[in-house]
Amino acid sequence: MDDDIPYLLLTPGPLTTSRTVRQAMQSDFSTWDVDYNDRVQFVRSELVRIATAQVASYTSVLMQGSGTFAVEATLGSVIPRGGKVLIVDNGAYGRRIVQIAARLEIDHAVLHLPETEVATADDVRAALAADDAITHVAIVHCETTTGMLNPVESIARVVKEFDRVFILDAMSSFGGMPIDVAALGIDYLIASSNKCIQGVPGFGFVIAHTPTFESTQGAARSLSLDLFDQWQAMEQGGGKWRYTSPTHVLLAFEQALRELAEEGGVSARHARYRENHRTLVDGMREIGFRTLLPDAVQAPIITSFESPTDPRYDFGAFYAALKARRFVIYPGKVSAADTFRIGNIGHVFPADMRDLLEQIATVSAEFFD
Ligand SMILES: *Cc1c(COP(=O)(O)O)cnc(C)c1O
Repeated sequence: MDDDIPYLLLTPGPLTTSRTVRQAMQSDFSTWDVDYNDRVQFVRSELVRIATAQVASYTSVLMQGSGTFAVEATLGSVIPRGGKVLIVDNGAYGRRIVQIAARLEIDHAVLHLPETEVATADDVRAALAADDAITHVAIVHCETTTGMLNPVESIARVVKEFDRVFILDAMSSFGGMPIDVAALGIDYLIASSNKCIQGVPGFGFVIAHTPTFESTQGAARSLSLDLFDQWQAMEQGGGKWRYTSPTHVLLAFEQALRELAEEGGVSARHARYRENHRTLVDGMREIGFRTLLPDAVQAPIITSFESPTDPRYDFGAFYAALKARRFVIYPGKVSAADTFRIGNIGHVFPADMRDLLEQIATVSAEFFD
């Protein structure tokens, strides 16, 4: 761990960044200047390059705010009036998409599943077959609530079979797991600056199928979250944002993208996250902890562990003891089970996981002996 940070964030984001990413924020740029706008354009094209080999059919647009702002901008901008979206809800982030649709008064159907159950292609096929009015399908890739991975490949095939527009919240997986938007027929992929690309928080982004996106002009229900207008400003202004852009965050993100390429791209990052995850889970099981999910549906992004049932266990005290040892973990978010979560993403390596396991073993021994 770098010695200029107080602790390692084992969280789903904001997460631990590299010192060089943090240092990239040490300059002030004008949003009107070509020096800055060129960097925006580099970031936009790099995002498309990471998302697919078929770069000519895709574009990207950045949006101020946290990831949810980008989800809300997408829902509110690309579903025309009279459209209807099928939303898969098997976790808090799926539920948030439902909340957005309800608040924006977008007609929607919900495919509701327990938080520990993945959506299947058959579930989605049945929902689409049952309702002709559905024009769009929205699903979360890695449900950060639990760390569960929805099988996006098989679901994407069904969405395309029915010729619906596909919106994927890949917030916590994009950059850390290989996804090819063209191969899967994803029309809108949404993620943010502070997850697997390993930047700092401040904006979200959408990778869009250009011909589909082009047809959405005038559909937005919000001024500041108008995704189409933001895209047009960036296209026509050579990287200009509408309204103040998070310049320092963008510089950090540009550096983070360079470091992703230096690491060997998404497949190398995925391999590191998987090793982090494997190291963590094997070690936790050895200490006596149990994972919430079976390994088959678990993404290597964040892992939910069942809280010990021993009455001497208390999450607050466990958290504080680990924080004092320079590791920050994450509370659980599952409604039906008492859990805590440990993230595998960020500028975090298997050696850090081994250090963490040693600390958890010590803290657990103090708790329960
Ligand atoms: C992080 C995350 C979001 C966005 O959350 P914000 O707190 O708004 O950044 C959305 N969906 C998923 C799956 C996420 O992991």
